[in-house]
Amino acid sequence: MGASSFRTVKSPAELTETFRANGLKVTPQRQLLFGLMHGNTVHPTAEALFAEASARMPGISLRTVYQTLTDLASMGELRLIDVGTGATRFDPNTDDHHHVVCSSCGEVRDVYVAGSDRLKVDGLEGFRIEEASILFSGTCVTCASDTVSRASARG
Ligand SMILES: [Zn+2]
Ligand SMILES: [Zn+2]
Repeated sequence: MGASSFRTVKSPAELTETFRANGLKVTPQRQLLFGLMHGNTVHPTAEALFAEASARMPGISLRTVYQTLTDLASMGELRLIDVGTGATRFDPNTDDHHHVVCSSCGEVRDVYVAGSDRLKVDGLEGFRIEEASILFSGTCVTCASDTVSRASARG
């Protein structure tokens, strides 16, 4: 429903095919990572994904997680994003979209901007633009209501 209908996320099986087509080996560790990234909307860091993967497959290495994510990114199946929270985040949503980050808890959500390819922008003269991203930042609903309840508790 909603925005999820226009996501173009490949299934773990399709990613397995893509990996093999690129001459890369598909190990059980990699298949676990494909599954964890599939439909993942939290924009995890490699470390967060590593923690999740380790819980399911003890012994998986952070190096394997990085390598798999980097391979997926180089095949265009993942986007690397930097929302200013200090670590690269990984995004399986490769649609043309932007992000909003909560400056309090670091939550990242997808944002769609209609007509963003035709925005009126000054200052790009001479540049051949390959990509444009808009980063919104603010306070998410959860953090905003926390602030309100803290304030009212103080009376
Ligand atoms: Zn928040
Ligand atoms: Zn995203």
